[in-house]
Amino acid sequence: DANRPHVFVTLGASGDLARKKIYPTLWWLYRDNLLPPNTTFYGYARSKTTIEEIKAKCEPYMQVKPEELKRYNQFWALNHYLAGQYDSRTDFEKLNQEVNTFEKNAISNRLFYLALPPSVFEEVTVHIKESCMAQKGWTRIIIEKPFGRDLATSQKLSDHLASLFSEQQIYRIDHYLGKEMVQNLMTLRFGNRIFNPTWNRDNIASVQISFKEPFGTQGRGGYFDEFGIIRDIMQNHLLQILTLVAMEKPATCLPDDIRNEKVKVLKSIRELTLAETVLGQYIGDPQGEGEAKFSYLDDPTVPQGSVTPTYALAVLKINNERWDGVPFILKCGKALNERKAEVRIQFKDVPGDIFDGKPKRNELVIRVQPGEALYVKLMVKTPGMAFDMEETELDLTYGSRYAGVKLPDAYERLILDVFCGSQMNFVRSDELSEAWRIFTPLLHQIEMDKVKPIPYIFGSRGPKEADEMLIKNNFIYTGSYKWKPKM
Ligand code: NAP
Ligand code: NAP
Repeated sequence: DANRPHVFVTLGASGDLARKKIYPTLWWLYRDNLLPPNTTFYGYARSKTTIEEIKAKCEPYMQVKPEELKRYNQFWALNHYLAGQYDSRTDFEKLNQEVNTFEKNAISNRLFYLALPPSVFEEVTVHIKESCMAQKGWTRIIIEKPFGRDLATSQKLSDHLASLFSEQQIYRIDHYLGKEMVQNLMTLRFGNRIFNPTWNRDNIASVQISFKEPFGTQGRGGYFDEFGIIRDIMQNHLLQILTLVAMEKPATCLPDDIRNEKVKVLKSIRELTLAETVLGQYIGDPQGEGEAKFSYLDDPTVPQGSVTPTYALAVLKINNERWDGVPFILKCGKALNERKAEVRIQFKDVPGDIFDGKPKRNELVIRVQPGEALYVKLMVKTPGMAFDMEETELDLTYGSRYAGVKLPDAYERLILDVFCGSQMNFVRSDELSEAWRIFTPLLHQIEMDKVKPIPYIFGSRGPKEADEMLIKNNFIYTGSYKWKPKM
């Protein structure tokens, strides 16, 4: 029933994630009439604050157009705030009473978003279970990384959640799964005949999945240092993309059929070793400007002598019939030369070459950000009288082909999915535990042996050892491809 009341509760409403992501997303969904019409919003945190104050804090992120002002104020009129402790049953009972007044005993659904530090996850979820579950409708719980810091801690959290909620009630956000080009992977692979027959060890030389960021810790390294780039980006976002690139065709598009295939890929990957990785930490560039002058270790919030990697490359192998021997190279780093996230599939050399070794390898590039695009690098005869050949591309740039189409923010899609009950783009607990299994021995070794990362200069492409690792793993960079942007 579309008119059923829905209650969206943000726990930690005074915080950074709430201000930058949750409230803006709720507003955009409300603005575009995508939420059930009878939805109301509650914020909960310890701070003695008000909706007016939260509204003011959110302002810079809300992107309100002048003509939307009336609707914007309607949105805030549907918002409520309640101050309470995270460990007080009485306070959660109060929250429940407030929500009850809105629901007026109707069949009503409740969503709880835990925008809180993990240290309070357990007590808060216990209180939700004891005092705040929907009586007649459904209850769904949204949580954010970090989902633990290794296999054991993650398992503990999963076991705790499983003791309170069913898997169908738990929505673990990996916001990369909300990005257009990541969601596109299924369609590209299984909705086209041209890709899938070549999508295997017979034709593909290597796969690279990269994330690059052009800035450092910007003075907030203290938080980052506890996790490092492997936990922050690789073990979750990049590995999730890998499973979508590598999985077999699911029996149907139903969420659990897809998630079953993703888990199978992870189960076919053995634990990573240090020898299969390159770890880096950025150092200042004396010629750089602003933050670029400073090393990771110059950040006053980073512990002295920290060996936390800010760059990592890891080579994973999938031990199945499709992928045996094909390196899947995950790369991520801060303080690099550009911002980009992409999947790069490099095909093998043409066998039985008749062109004196001139053909370069084909590449299929799926650019996730910035500027969604899909291009295939391929060889053509040099246009004109010449008989030579050169590299060119088949190019699908979303900004021009789909000019004017609004690509929603990842959080918009994902929060809407939670309302709709679609778990396709959320991480299931068995997926999570397989992901941690692959990375935990390496993470422990880095911490125990204080493995020294290789220094790389702020604004560079990362340590040169990473490129050497690429050569060893069947990625050939020629530097001969020239891109001519459209005028
Ligand atoms: P935050 O601002 O540090 O914390 C959210 C709220 O939790 C604070 O406003 C504070 O509210 C309360 N809080 C903070 N420290 C606490 C403590 N030690 N004990 C009890 N309560 C405490 O965190 P956030 O950046 O919003 O992130 C929330 C969650 O999302 C975290 O799990 C984080 O890892 C994850 N996450 C955040 C981002 C992001 O962009 N910020 C991105 C990905 C994942 P009161 O003092 O008012 O209770
Ligand atoms: P490329 O120039 O052949 O480079 C491929 C990748 O190799 C680079 O992205 C770089 O990635 C890596 N690389 C650079 N130097 C290297 C080295 N010495 N050793 C090993 N790897 C190295 O092809 P491209 O990057 O795909 O395309 C070139 C430019 O054209 C890019 O800016 C691309 O965005 C643009 N382009 C845009 C579109 C479009 O917008 N639709 C279409 C086609 C091309 P890492 O730094 O991540 O290692």
